[in-house]
Amino acid sequence: MTKIEPQPGIMQIKPYVGGASSVEGVANVIKLSSNENPFGPSPDAIEAFQRAGRELHRYPNTDHASLRAAIGELHKLDPDRIICGVGSDEVITFLCQCYSGPGTEVIYTEHGFSMYRISALAAGATPVKVPERERMVDVDEILKAVTEQTSLVFVTNPGNPTGTMVSQAELARLARELPDHVLLVLDGAYVEYVDGFDGGARLVNKYDNVFMTRTFSKMYGLGGLRIGWGYGAAEVIDVLNRVRGPFNLSMAQQAAAEAALQDRDHVARCLSENTRLRSWLAEALAELGVPSDTSCANFILARFASAEEATDCNAFLQEQGIIVRMVAGYGLPHCLRITIGDEASCRRVAHMIGRFKGGVP
Ligand code: PMP
Repeated sequence: MTKIEPQPGIMQIKPYVGGASSVEGVANVIKLSSNENPFGPSPDAIEAFQRAGRELHRYPNTDHASLRAAIGELHKLDPDRIICGVGSDEVITFLCQCYSGPGTEVIYTEHGFSMYRISALAAGATPVKVPERERMVDVDEILKAVTEQTSLVFVTNPGNPTGTMVSQAELARLARELPDHVLLVLDGAYVEYVDGFDGGARLVNKYDNVFMTRTFSKMYGLGGLRIGWGYGAAEVIDVLNRVRGPFNLSMAQQAAAEAALQDRDHVARCLSENTRLRSWLAEALAELGVPSDTSCANFILARFASAEEATDCNAFLQEQGIIVRMVAGYGLPHCLRITIGDEASCRRVAHMIGRFKGGVP
């Protein structure tokens, strides 16, 4: 038995468990559990990835200059204030590593993404969970929870797994009212699904203590490649770059992300299909007695009468080869999170939930 002890926060972490991708004995599963883009990435991204494969003996560049310039141009942001990471997960880790630690508190909301707690504990900080109101981030509850020890506040907008959105006015109020010693992190993993929303970029421009994270894993269909980015004040970016590994993104990641960014037609098609199928699925399930909040993302949070019913429905769907996400770990045991798939998958999951509820839709 080793005498070496990890720092105390580590043993409070339950390792992250991702959505399953297979069901034993079922050949063609429909996977609607990880908020992936059912249409995949742009073909241009796949081609760029393959082209980069010819240079595998070369180290990648360390500064991601070309990718940052492309992100900056598209979103009208200063590329020098952008940092790229291995998924936005890595950017979240950098933030906790640099700005929290023993003696500090990291605030996240009741149904917030599990990586906030994991990264805070890994940094030796104390995670502080604050209540939401009816599956919606509550700015007053966050402000109430802030202490002298608070270093970071994480807010996902639109939320996961809720799909709900805090209004721009409320976000602005939060940014304005938080004390200077707190960095507000706006996690924009699902921003691309909200046409015209800047994810909080304007607030970052206005306040040095606001930061925004984004990802290529959702709308850009590159979850398997692991690319995310963050935008913040120049001095925050300088701090984060000190802990970033020099070669954290391969050339294949950088090239694919840049190509994906340029294919605006693909993004527009995925956005309109998501919007159309999300309304269709929400309505179909509501007719079956399974309501959901209006979702602003690429999934809906289907609410069942009880945790038992949600668990039974999940098991039934699995038997039918459909994988959705149980979200009991996010404080929502009576809900299932269902990613918006392509049309056939949406119809199939609605049909099977209809069968589960006892009437074929
Ligand atoms: N934030 C939120 C709210 C998410 O749902 C996810 C993906 N599950 C992430 C961040 C991390 O995404 P990635 O690391 O793939 O960029």
